Amino acid sequence: MNALRLNVAGLLKEQSGAARDYTVQVAPEELAGMLEDARPAAPLEGDLRLMRAPRSIFVRGQLGTDVNIECSRCLAEVETPVELELEAEYFPQIDISSGAPLPAPDDDLAFTIDGNHELDLSEIVRQSLLLALPMHALCAEACRGLCPDCGANLNQGLCTCEPEPADERLTPLRALLQGRTGS
Ligand SMILES: [Zn+2]
Ligand SMILES: [Zn+2]
Repeated sequence: MNALRLNVAGLLKEQSGAARDYTVQVAPEELAGMLEDARPAAPLEGDLRLMRAPRSIFVRGQLGTDVNIECSRCLAEVETPVELELEAEYFPQIDISSGAPLPAPDDDLAFTIDGNHELDLSEIVRQSLLLALPMHALCAEACRGLCPDCGANLNQGLCTCEPEPADERLTPLRALLQGRTGS
């Protein structure tokens, strides 16, 4: 994840309030491990601003990419844009001027800047991607999904399965049969 590791030695030496802007571009291959079931369809790109705070560095910015994800009804691949809003705070483990180790941040979940003054965005990007991925992607609002009996894609035409009987009198019997096969 080299594209997501930023050397912030210069910014650490500056006064609180100093800022640096970075343009980030991560190749699709590098994203693949961060996307669970989705597949990257474009690089992850965007602009970040890093700001020096008295004890830390704030990261803020927007990144965007496109991913291929399965339609939750018919399983066809759908290309979906994904936008990430990043906001995180990183604490140096080493004092930049003296080289002395610094106390760990109070918050166990806070991010740290390693001894080489590198700030690694992989984890915040991974977490933000998972939150930004659509839970129920649809190829189209009117997607008809798959036939539950034969698995045919009903967007491509009707299958030959019998439609479900709508006869109310059969409902208790069907429930009974389903109960038996389920046990
Ligand atoms: Zn679909
Ligand atoms: Zn069918």
